[in-house]
Amino acid sequence: MSKAFASQADLDDKKTTFEQLSEHCWAYTAEGDPNSGVIIGEKFIMVSDATATPAMARDLIKHIRTVSDKPIKYVLLTHYHAVRVLGASAYLAEGATEVIASRGTYELIVERGAQDMQSEMERFPRLFRGADSVPGLTWPTLVIGDGQPGRQGSLEVDLGGVKVSIWHPGPGHTRGDTIAWVEAEKVLFSGDLVEYEAGVYTGDAQLEEWPATLEALRALGAEAIVPGRGEAMKGKDDVNKALDYTKRWVTTLFQAGKEAAAAGMDLKTAMAHTRKSMDPVFGHVFIYEHCLPFDVSRAFDEAQGIKNPRIWTAERDQEMWKALQA
Ligand SMILES: [Zn+2]
Repeated sequence: MSKAFASQADLDDKKTTFEQLSEHCWAYTAEGDPNSGVIIGEKFIMVSDATATPAMARDLIKHIRTVSDKPIKYVLLTHYHAVRVLGASAYLAEGATEVIASRGTYELIVERGAQDMQSEMERFPRLFRGADSVPGLTWPTLVIGDGQPGRQGSLEVDLGGVKVSIWHPGPGHTRGDTIAWVEAEKVLFSGDLVEYEAGVYTGDAQLEEWPATLEALRALGAEAIVPGRGEAMKGKDDVNKALDYTKRWVTTLFQAGKEAAAAGMDLKTAMAHTRKSMDPVFGHVFIYEHCLPFDVSRAFDEAQGIKNPRIWTAERDQEMWKALQA
């Protein structure tokens, strides 16, 4: 019998932390599970990333209600991945009226949202324990930008006493990644564009372009960051640590993928080759073993010129896994 995906056997609950980073900004982190950010204004609240299920979202709402009774009006989807968006209905039930996403994210939900939902639910049984309460895909109500990177397509949201800027800084974790930036408090909500001491999932990534996008984020000069996974980082040095960590993962992985493609390796050999440079640096972090097969597959594809990541389906997950076990 073949071994299950790493995360199918990972069933222990994580400890969540709800932490204040600045006057209006909060981080909800979970020991390597998907994080959310919360921005609390005098009139409205915005949540950046909705968690995997309505049940998890309700846990975050409970935390929010310990510090504010203002309406949660805005939900930002930093990208389309199911573990970040399928909790959104809990906020809609709570009265949220705007679900914000970039043009690129909207297009990816249309193109592959359904397959992604099925595939991710099977990959992460722990995160999707309450999946029967998910009413279906989450659709944005407010689509921003024209798909081109840069602040000219940015949306400014005034929550009362705090302004949030939202834009697509460039391709990376997906081609539609969006960030939220609270300039006055120098707090960045990066989604999965930045991770720290947790697996950097790159199965749907644009690896070639990702490092330049990280440099665009570095240029903001953030003094705190809520990464997609891993603890919230405070102070410029620690923000840079997270940016450097992610960049090192992406460049080390892609370099190995290019070498594997140039040498004409098959996927299993490419995996073994990639482990030589990745394991010593990253082998100890949360969900490393879960991410690696998807990451190697994508790096190997992109190195061979496949620009648009192939869609992961539950069946493709299994085929890939079998090829690696062979
Ligand atoms: Zn993601």
